[in-house]
Amino acid sequence: MSEVLNVEKIFNQNVFTLGKMRERLPKKVFNEVKNVMDYGGELSLATADVVAKAMKDWAVENGATHYTHWFQPLTGVTAEKHDAFVTNPDEEGKMLMEFSGKELIKGEPDASSFPSGGLRATFEARGYTIWDVTSPVFLKEDATGVVLCIPTAFCSYTGESLDKKTPLLRSMEAISEQALRIVRLFGNTEATKVTASVGPEQEYFLVDRDKFLARKDLIYTGRTLFGAPAPKGQELDDHYFGTIRERVGAFMHALNIELWKLGITAKTQHNEVAPAQHELAPIYDTANVAVDHNQLIMETMKEVAERQGLACLLHEKPFAGVNGSGKHDNWSITTDNGVNLLDPGDTPNENKQFLLVLACMMKAVDRHADLLRQSASDVGNDHRLGADEAPPAIISIFLGEQLDDIVQHIIRDGVATTSKEGGKLETGVSTLSDISKDATDRNRTSPFAFTGNKFEFRMVGSKDSIASPNTTLNAIVAEAFCEAADELEKAEDFDTACDALIQRYMKENYRIIFNGNGYSEEWVEEAARRGLPNIHSMVEAVSTLTTDKAVALFEKFGIFTRKELESREEVLYEQYSKVINIEALTMIDMATKQYIPSVIKYTKELADTVLSVKEAGADVSVQSDMLNEISVLLKEAKAALETLKLSQKKGIEMEGKDRAFFCKDTIMVDMDNLRAPIDKLEMLVDKDFWPVPSYGDLTFEV
Ligand code: ADP
Ligand code: MG
Repeated sequence: MSEVLNVEKIFNQNVFTLGKMRERLPKKVFNEVKNVMDYGGELSLATADVVAKAMKDWAVENGATHYTHWFQPLTGVTAEKHDAFVTNPDEEGKMLMEFSGKELIKGEPDASSFPSGGLRATFEARGYTIWDVTSPVFLKEDATGVVLCIPTAFCSYTGESLDKKTPLLRSMEAISEQALRIVRLFGNTEATKVTASVGPEQEYFLVDRDKFLARKDLIYTGRTLFGAPAPKGQELDDHYFGTIRERVGAFMHALNIELWKLGITAKTQHNEVAPAQHELAPIYDTANVAVDHNQLIMETMKEVAERQGLACLLHEKPFAGVNGSGKHDNWSITTDNGVNLLDPGDTPNENKQFLLVLACMMKAVDRHADLLRQSASDVGNDHRLGADEAPPAIISIFLGEQLDDIVQHIIRDGVATTSKEGGKLETGVSTLSDISKDATDRNRTSPFAFTGNKFEFRMVGSKDSIASPNTTLNAIVAEAFCEAADELEKAEDFDTACDALIQRYMKENYRIIFNGNGYSEEWVEEAARRGLPNIHSMVEAVSTLTTDKAVALFEKFGIFTRKELESREEVLYEQYSKVINIEALTMIDMATKQYIPSVIKYTKELADTVLSVKEAGADVSVQSDMLNEISVLLKEAKAALETLKLSQKKGIEMEGKDRAFFCKDTIMVDMDNLRAPIDKLEMLVDKDFWPVPSYGDLTFEV
């Protein structure tokens, strides 16, 4: 029998954990580091030197040769530049591996090649990476060997954030500070900070690597740009939670081991709705760690798949007509003395606090529905949102029947009319403490659902970093908390003022609550009547970042300056245009070099057949009908190809917002027009002549 896997032993094997620090650092140094981790501040250089040496020793003992400041630029993926621990040898030729505190705390990668939206001119291309002490350092093993990775934030020379991590950390501070004011109102004097926790559920597809490599569209864009539907899709619902196939099982097993070594609590795995689609969820963690871990999960999925002759597709919509992938972002806020602010609780005091928090959430989500929508937008996600497979593009909150009943009751009669019975807050309908147990109440069509003791933001795309959704959530809720605290801290009679505020917030923002079917046409109309924004695409969402409302919010809590927001707008437009341009070029390439030549070959075969059958004196009507039908589609495809080529050329001459909208409104339409005849041809042409694997080959033959 093979060696028994000891998960407890391998867990965190590649992480420089608190435990390892405690073991390896002098007590005084350890305490200083722990203090900075818990309460912020900066490490002294002397301390950093000691930490760096201990870290390097541990890393080298485990085979590391290099270190890197691991950061998350606005590209959405992570970046790393490796430096060896190697130093100059002495006279005798002996070399000592070294790593200083300075190198640990701060790095200076050339920032000129990362998107900055004009924040940093290339002549002052310096950027800084700064160690995020609260996210553990880890070892990454890949073909380059073993690398010590230091999670960092990435800023420009003048201090503007150039990454996804910096604003996230700033937003975590904001929500901690404002949530503390809320719990203080309820007499909690023990808590010293409040942490946003996040548990992301990651969906993905697995396909055979050779078939993946036979499709230029998958290679260059991560999604299929052509492809007729397979005879079977997801209609039988036989894949969801189905038995996991051998090859997929082996992948999941190997993946879990790699993730556990990195201290990632890979917990739940199952098949998803679409064929070849699966999901992995870790146990939730502090927001910044969860963001780092999610990036690592995505990277590790790709690597493990490659090792096993598979390819992992993280794109939101790899196959048209088949459900795409998302990432449910489970979010909650908890004090360091263990109180989850989204937990209804058992005592009247806890109940009241929960209702206040809920009222603030309603206000935050209603006021900033546009920003929340923006935070979940990326190019791929445009194919899912509102397409009856993922939540609509309209933001609303699902509370479930019971909680909605309570909210309606409060709006009608006020909080005070709810009576206390048996230590529970009775609202005439039900008790709040029951709700926490009733987490089963699900509405899969809702973008933002209360699920017992957390909110589940279901709009996020599978490939996207979860930094932005969580930054936005933290920020908008911090603002609502701040406003509530400003009012209630001044109140003469806290109880009465609090009741009134809860009722007012719920009443004013009740339009954001929707418990019905989010996929229905009626909801789209109803939402419009309620005045809720329905932002259809990523490019339409971009400008929500720089409204006066958004700037006021982000500047108030020091999360983004106006300048940073404007730069992000620019980056997003540019990203959108670049992605669409690559997709258009890939389609042009495939149509020109693969599809059209293959179809022409097939028409020759048919034409030859027509001639020889005719010569033999038999009926050729079927063969010549087919030849005609195919020739008509071929002509259509060729014309659509020429149109797309023209618009692609026009697009690259444009810039910024104009170009992004041109991509969406013109190039994307031209792409669809090219796809249509080619997909029809796929259903007519002999499979032996077809140049690429089909949808069926990709999704059913894994
Ligand atoms: P589902 O039934 O929604 O598919 P999963 O078990 O797949 O549930 O995922 C739920 C996710 O929510 C997990 O990552 C889990 O750790 C996370 N989660 C659970 N409780 C909380 C909480 N209080 N705050 C944040 N995330 C949570
Ligand atoms: Mg799940």
